Formats: sequence, structure tokens, C-alpha cells
Amino acid sequence: MPKILDGAPIAAQIKQEVAEEVKELARRGVRPGLAAVLVGHVPASEIYVRSKVQACEELGLYSDLITPPETVTTEDMLDLIAALNSRDDIDGILVQLPLPKQVDAKVLLDAVDPAKDVDGFHPVNAGRLQAGRPALAPCTPAGVIEILKRSGIPIAGANAVVVGRSDIVGKPAAMLLLHENATVTICHSKTRDLAAVTRGADILVAAIGRPGFVTLEMVKPGATIIDVGINRVTDPAEFEKFFAGNAKREAAFAKRGSVVIGDVHPAAFEVSGAYTPVPGGVGLLTIAMLMSNTVRAARMRRGL
Ligand code: NDP
Repeated sequence: MPKILDGAPIAAQIKQEVAEEVKELARRGVRPGLAAVLVGHVPASEIYVRSKVQACEELGLYSDLITPPETVTTEDMLDLIAALNSRDDIDGILVQLPLPKQVDAKVLLDAVDPAKDVDGFHPVNAGRLQAGRPALAPCTPAGVIEILKRSGIPIAGANAVVVGRSDIVGKPAAMLLLHENATVTICHSKTRDLAAVTRGADILVAAIGRPGFVTLEMVKPGATIIDVGINRVTDPAEFEKFFAGNAKREAAFAKRGSVVIGDVHPAAFEVSGAYTPVPGGVGLLTIAMLMSNTVRAARMRRGL
């Protein structure tokens, strides 16, 4: 039976550690602060940002939720970022994506002070990460490493295959695995004979954005699968393809008309040695790592 790498206790443990660090910083008169910028009314973004602000409250961090209107311009946003960059009570700046079309997201993310870039999206942090210097690493890939380490999955010397090369997940995940001494292969949409490559993986990270894309034939028996994908399935035929006979999922689909599935087909998990479920795996680590990055930024800015 494969081991299920449950994200909940790991996220709880990281949050507990962050809360203790916050208490320790309070004794030195420091309270880490996060500014969350949420533009307009995208329901999913509202839920994410609310959870992030709530996590700050739970762990004792200061948070400031800023909600510019949907019609905001790039210039207005640049002014806002400049103001946050210069505020001493703000250690982390989070600009929730996606942004409205008229706002140039790249220009904006590049304007965030790298020292406050708790999402780890700034090119300076990407460069520092690659160069092996202290950096704020993107939260989801950082969560991948925490799950592996805290679950006792050996990384050093392992063949790690990352499917996906985005700047926010695939590339930084590969870089972090490399720093942990894995032998890393990065795959993408132009990779030839993908299955032959993924079958060589001791650790297979799927960050593709396609429901159930990684199938049984693509996995080496006993491999560890880290499924980063979050995809919503609403089509009954597609649902059947993945979850026919799964009573729990069928009940959820009947009730809500949709289910969330990762980038890995449920059948592929069966041959693995260990895997992160979706939901309940990597996704749960992202906010915990954001809190951890904010405390780290607070320390680094003050040379602590
Ligand atoms: P992107 O769309 O930015 O990147 C997807 C990557 O997958 C690209 O590098 C693309 O290759 C590759 N890809 C697409 N099709 C194929 C294919 N047929 N074969 C091989 N590779 C392929 O997605 P993200 O990296 O932003 O996100 C990936 C997944 O992770 C999504 O499901 C997303 O929802 C989820 N996610 C989850 C988070 C969390 O848990 N908190 C946070 C962020 C993302 P190419 O570069 O050649 O186009």
C-alpha cells in the first residue's frame, strides 16, 4: 500500500514553528507584517487572500489587506507598491494573481522590494535561489521540499523528475531539489518520450495543470509522487474517467457538480511508494510557507 503524504499535519507543524518564532521576535520588539493586495472581486482570489490574512492572525503576524478597485491602473499599483516598500511595519508584500488585464503584472512584481518578496517571484530572488544564496523561495516549491523532508523521503542522490517548467512552480522546485542533491530532470511540453523519462524518477513532481495527466505507465513502481496540480473537473464523462467506482468522490460530485483533481491519475498513485493527495497535499503547505517566508523576511531585513 502506498503511503499517503498528508499535507495537514506538516502544514500544522510548520505553522506551529512560525508561531513560536513570532513569539521570540516579539520579545525583541519585532512583529512581522504582511501586506496582501487583492484587486477587484475574483472569488477564488478572495478565498485565498482571506485564508492568508486569517493565518497571519492565528500565528500572531500583523497583516494589512489592501483592496484596490478592478479599474486600478499599473501606475496606481506601482505607487501602492512603492508605499509598501517603504513601510517599516511591512516585511512581506503579496500581490494576489491574477490581476485585471490593464495591469502589467510583470512590471508590478518586479517593483516589489526583493527583501519583501515573500512569494519569491522577483528575478533577484530567482537568481539568488539559483546561485545558492539566501533567498525567499516560492512557497509551493518550498512546500514540496518540506513534505519530502518531513516525511523522511531521501532526496540526496535520488532521480527527481519535475514535469513543468513554470517560473513559480517547476523551475524553482527543480532548483530546490538540486540544492538537496537530487539528480534533476526538468520536462515540459516539448519533451520527447515523456513516459520514458518519468519512469526513471524516484521522485516525480507533477506541475502541469492538466487533470490526471500522469498515468500508471509513466510511474516507476515504488516512486514518490508529488502532485502539485489543482484542476477542477465538471464534465461527468471526465469525472467517470478518473473516479468511476469511488463512492466518496461520486457523492462529492453529485453534491457540488465538480471535484478537484491533481495532475496525476488516481490509478498511478496505486503503484507509487508514497504520494501527496489532491486535495490535502501540497496545496495545504503553500500558506504555511508564505507565513514562514514572511518571518524569514522580517529577520533578514533586520539582520537577525
Ligand atoms: P503553467 O501553466 O505555468 O505551467 C505548466 C507547465 O506544464 C509548463 O511548463 C508546460 O510546458 C508543462 N506542460 C503542459 N503540457 C504538458 C505536456 N503535455 N507534457 C509535458 N509538460 C507539459 O502552470 P503552473 O506551473 O503555474 O501550475 C501547474 C499546476 O500546479 C496547476 O495545476 C496549478 O493549478 C497548480 N498550482 C498549485 C499551487 C498550490 O498547490 N498551491 C500553486 C501554483 C500552481 P511548456 O513550458 O513547454 O508550455
